Amino acid sequence: MSVRTRFAPSPTGLLHVGGARTALFNWIYARKNAGTFVLRIEDTDHTRNTEQAKQVILDGLHWLGLDWDEGPQKGGNHGPYYQSERGAIYEEYLSRLEKAGHLYEDNGAIRFRSPREKVVVEDEICGKIEFDLTNPGTHPDLTLRRPDGSWIFHFVSVVDDIEMKITHVIRGEDHLSNTPKHVELYKALGAVPPRFAHMPLILNRDGSKMSKRDEGAALGTYPEAGYAPEAVRNYLSLLGWSPKENREIISTEEVIALFDLDQVNRRNAAFDLDKCFWINGQYLLQMDLARYAELAIPFLEKAGITWPTWEALERVLTIVKPKVKLLKDLPEWVACFFTDALTYDEPAVAKSLTGEIAAERLRTLSDSYASLSSWDAASLEFSLKETAVKLGIKTGELVHPARVAVSGRGIGPGLYEMIEILGKERVLSRFAKGIAKAAGA
Ligand code: GLU
Repeated sequence: MSVRTRFAPSPTGLLHVGGARTALFNWIYARKNAGTFVLRIEDTDHTRNTEQAKQVILDGLHWLGLDWDEGPQKGGNHGPYYQSERGAIYEEYLSRLEKAGHLYEDNGAIRFRSPREKVVVEDEICGKIEFDLTNPGTHPDLTLRRPDGSWIFHFVSVVDDIEMKITHVIRGEDHLSNTPKHVELYKALGAVPPRFAHMPLILNRDGSKMSKRDEGAALGTYPEAGYAPEAVRNYLSLLGWSPKENREIISTEEVIALFDLDQVNRRNAAFDLDKCFWINGQYLLQMDLARYAELAIPFLEKAGITWPTWEALERVLTIVKPKVKLLKDLPEWVACFFTDALTYDEPAVAKSLTGEIAAERLRTLSDSYASLSSWDAASLEFSLKETAVKLGIKTGELVHPARVAVSGRGIGPGLYEMIEILGKERVLSRFAKGIAKAAGA
């Protein structure tokens, strides 16, 4: 039987990292087994069920690269994939239960009479668990439908998993305690329950429950912050799972190859945005330039930065790449290469580009550079060092004013590479401006 997994989010207005991790593990498991990954939107709660809330989920999954095989926008043989459109199916299943004598009415609500048994759940992650459902005090009968006619999650989720032929229900551990009740429903409907795999919860580092408002909780904040989707996939795949050698940088392809449900941790996972940030930096560093540019260009365009040629952009990206940890910071590293209106970081100016001494040093460097016949990083470095020796000062005492003069900033990529790329004309004119700025201050 071919594997069919599903991600079944309720549209709450945001895609939580926990949900994104659930989606990822379902997707990975389907891909690993050449199976089918289904997306089903559990939108039976009409009050929260807005178009925008649904779009947030679709956008988040698209961004993460978790393509679904069946679901919204895609279709499939087991639709519709919005629960709000599946009322007729639920009615039919409800009447089957009713005919078999499993239901009763209670103040307008429809409830399922539990057989009051012990139910064993063989969970792929948590192992074999016996639930004792014999006591109605601790395990009241499930409500399937509210007096207003709306459906309760437990019932419609079971119906959909049957109808959509789901073989593996991979979801958060918060649903583990619901599972024996779901198993009762499967049995009453004459269906074989799917395999269950309940993943450990994701908590804050201090062990508290993650709230919507915690930094990094909403997947929607990652694209704008300048995370690469492949890095976030890497990070999420380590929340509750790890490859044997405990490697932290692991491609999605490798995770698919190595992953199995019985290796998922039982211990809760700690959410650590610093680690995600670090992983992102590693990905940006290792990334080939074509992919880097693809991710970078929207950030540059948004900042109004334009570049004369593709080659010029590539050269700049190559030298700033090792410095940038989040793509949202990229424009401030790149801007000085593609503008005539340099903006100066005033604290950096105050530190390195102020006073007659700084002006005089820069003037000497400018003269040395003006007389250079070749304009490459090695010659520029040689000439600067030679000038420093001539002036009897340390290299740094020339590097800092030069950097602020050409880039406006106290930090940046390698100075000589930067000067090489900027070109002689631009550099000498920035030196002149810098000299005037220092002398005038
Ligand atoms: N809509 C449920 C949730 O978001 C799905 C639970 C499940 O996967 O069965 O928690």
